[in-house]
Amino acid sequence: MRTIGLLGGMSWESSIEYERLINEGVRARLGGVHSAELVIRSYDFARIEAMQAAGEWDAAGDLLAADARRLQEAGAELVVLCTNTMHLLADRIEAAIDVEFLHLADATAAAVIADELRTVALLGTRYTMEHGFYRSRLEGHGLGVLVPDGADRTLVHDVIYDELVQGVVRDESKAAYLEVIGRLVDRGAEGVIAGCTEIELLVTAEDVSVRYYPTTRLHAEAAVAAALAGG
Ligand code: GLU
Repeated sequence: MRTIGLLGGMSWESSIEYERLINEGVRARLGGVHSAELVIRSYDFARIEAMQAAGEWDAAGDLLAADARRLQEAGAELVVLCTNTMHLLADRIEAAIDVEFLHLADATAAAVIADELRTVALLGTRYTMEHGFYRSRLEGHGLGVLVPDGADRTLVHDVIYDELVQGVVRDESKAAYLEVIGRLVDRGAEGVIAGCTEIELLVTAEDVSVRYYPTTRLHAEAAVAAALAGG
């Protein structure tokens, strides 16, 4: 089993889900008292959020790249960045390490393609929905990507930062998300990507009438498969 390096704390509300899902996945595959080999770097999210809000992507890239390298030096043989948004800096991280970087959008696209869907809606932070780094990665896999219209984008983004990363899960926000999803389905979305690692805390597959792709779960499953590949 390869050691997985988790670059997390963005936010810890979802990083603990990564840790739980990866450990459960290893136990399901290997049985008994087996669990994952992990090295974890978890940030104070206030630092990260401040850099995002200020558009200090270079500084954030320096930080994440240096810490990905430290994970490798601490024994990680595979690096998992536990947030969709910071995949904006995936190239910087990949360039800093010699071990595999398991890109979240690739793991997600693989699940969508396995279901033979062509057009998916993408929910996430404003950075993920608007910057293009994530959409283009999905489009590179041949997928059509729809994002919410202006006011809906603001709502989806604000619920993530004002509630979910702070551990707040509100019924009103869930209802609002389901309305946003309904409008995306009306526009032709055949499936919905929960492209923020906290969204599954609010909306689960049972809540949605079309196929649902919770990225934390998909990324964690891909990490387990990669860690255990080759025996
Ligand atoms: N965890 C979130 C994501 O998957 C948002 C927090 C962040 O900006 O890293 O995008």
